[in-house]
Amino acid sequence: MNLSINDFKYTYPSERLLMGPGPSNVAPRVLQAMANPCIGHLDPQFLAIMDETQQLLRFLFQTKNPLTIPVSGTGSAGMETCLVNMIEPGDEAVICVNGVFGVRMTEIVQRIGGKLLRVDGEWGRAMDPDLVRRAIKGKQPKMLAVVHGETSTGAFSDLAEFASIARECGAIYVVDMVTTLGGMNVPIDDLNIDVAYSGTQKCISCPPGLSPISFGPKAMEALDKRKTPVVSWYLDMGMVKSYWGNERKYHHTAPINMTYGFREALRIIAEEGLQTRFERHLKHHRALVAGLETMGLSMLVPEKERLPMLNAIKIPEGVDDLQVRRALLNGFGIEIGAGLGPLAGKIWRVGLMGHTSTMRSVLLFLTALETVLKSQGFKARPGAIEAATAV
Ligand SMILES: *Cc1c(COP(=O)(O)O)cnc(C)c1O
Repeated sequence: MNLSINDFKYTYPSERLLMGPGPSNVAPRVLQAMANPCIGHLDPQFLAIMDETQQLLRFLFQTKNPLTIPVSGTGSAGMETCLVNMIEPGDEAVICVNGVFGVRMTEIVQRIGGKLLRVDGEWGRAMDPDLVRRAIKGKQPKMLAVVHGETSTGAFSDLAEFASIARECGAIYVVDMVTTLGGMNVPIDDLNIDVAYSGTQKCISCPPGLSPISFGPKAMEALDKRKTPVVSWYLDMGMVKSYWGNERKYHHTAPINMTYGFREALRIIAEEGLQTRFERHLKHHRALVAGLETMGLSMLVPEKERLPMLNAIKIPEGVDDLQVRRALLNGFGIEIGAGLGPLAGKIWRVGLMGHTSTMRSVLLFLTALETVLKSQGFKARPGAIEAATAV
């Protein structure tokens, strides 16, 4: 086969303002860390980086759990890790579904051969704990899983409520915090969460590629008591924990440069401080919503259930979804997300995650959206910038 190297020029991706559902913008410091020399995964220097990464990650999860590591893979790999390790064929798993990511969990449980108990909530709302209480009455499921922040709808659920339900029925409590970790307060020990997973590309503002997880004592006990081997060799925490632990038993090769970037992103979070970071996310979310509502747009999710890092905006009547997103990207370099599943064509998903959550992002977006909507014949009411700035 003939191949001309001239057809494969070096590519320079454009600079974008990443205001979609992830990835978010990455601080230059993180990218610089990733450009450092690749060393061996058993090099003492890398072993020290692995240890420090785990310490920083425990700080972020606010946990003492020894097994707190980044799984090699994106957020979905973290989801799969938690489910394949906690569920054996025939085990009953309660999955709360109020968006795309709850659905994804049900698909994994079915592939494992678990006994699925699916509880459907409303898309665009917090998961209703009473629905779950009713569905599990008299049952003793092995696991109860809930998505903290449904990135597909922009709603978050009350983690303490589901923790008490899990305690009452003796289930292992699993929480998806892919979107919320690093942007909302999720102290997993205080919240009695047994298993948590996240992703690097959302509020942690590191490129996609790692999935932080943490397993508490109850999860470790379930791991020890398994009767069957974990169906995934790669994601078997029984083996992976010996690699990240003191034994350093070779399992797979950690993604070296990705780990440099992740450690740097965690250092940035520690420098900023957790509370300051959560308040920053909330403030910019409020500013954005104030601007949008002043323009005459409305949000999908009721105020008290809105995620600070993911804003679902209802697309006004007569406005073309795709044309608006194209115009924002091509004219302003701003990426936003489309609706998924039943919400496709009905909402835009605007992220203010991690490094992207700034007043500058809010003001640029409001200005750009106003301009684009005007070309679509939608006349925004004036005063959005003033309303956002007033927050
Ligand atoms: C993004 C996301 C995932 C999946 O993460 P990937 O990095 O895309 O694999 C899972 N759950 C939630 C809530 C998410 O927002």
